[in-house]
Amino acid sequence: MTIKDRLTQVQRRIRAAALRAGRDPGEVQLVAVSKLISAERIREGVEAGIRILGENRVQEARAKVEALPGLEVEWHLVGHLQTNKAKLAVRLFSLIHSLDSLRLAQELDKWGRSLGKTVETLVQVKLAEEETKTGLPEEEVLPFLRAVGDLPSVRVQGLMLLPPYCPDPEEVRPYFRRLRQLLDHLKGEPLPENVVLRHLSMGMSHDFEAAIEEGATLVRIGTALFGPRPSAAEPEPATVGQGGRGLAAI
Ligand SMILES: *Cc1c(COP(=O)(O)O)cnc(C)c1O
Repeated sequence: MTIKDRLTQVQRRIRAAALRAGRDPGEVQLVAVSKLISAERIREGVEAGIRILGENRVQEARAKVEALPGLEVEWHLVGHLQTNKAKLAVRLFSLIHSLDSLRLAQELDKWGRSLGKTVETLVQVKLAEEETKTGLPEEEVLPFLRAVGDLPSVRVQGLMLLPPYCPDPEEVRPYFRRLRQLLDHLKGEPLPENVVLRHLSMGMSHDFEAAIEEGATLVRIGTALFGPRPSAAEPEPATVGQGGRGLAAI
């Protein structure tokens, strides 16, 4: 199957899930997660109709942005962001899904101010006790959002969830529901002006339909669009791909 075929299929499934839940399919945006996928295949995806690309590493995203000049896409960061890469992240991404500490928010605010940009973010929430995952525990989200009021170059647009991996989407559904309930609860609280809670980033290839039924507005889908990824330990030689050489030739 081509990326275009897969994209058509995913878009159809997104639409059907939204309609099942009585939602407007237009409320759900597809973030095509292109980590470890070559620039060439990304270009193929964009030509097929992908409009938002999600990357989980800042350096890899930079290489791809440079290898793919002139693509009409938004780049989102979906992976953890270290404070020392905040400046580059502010330059590259139109939405950072992984804001997870006040220190990072302060750093983003600093670079946003210096680059004359409002840094658009989602707060990553951790609903399960998992040492390996980043994200703010549920009870810390409201105090965090209030503190963001002092950082006017950062705007929080919603919440993001990376739940524990379960192959069965029905086992993940309660996490999606809980994130939605948390968003609804927070919307009823007095919040600073730069906190506008309208997005829920949740759902991946194997569980995005359940996430949409529970209220996702951004689904982050990799495998179902691009096929299985090469392993992180041995990236494809063409991770950055032809585009890189093409750029040097210009
Ligand atoms: C890789 C990744 C995805 C996409 O995963 P698939 O199962 O390939 O759809 C979504 N979100 C994050 C944060 C990821 O790192």
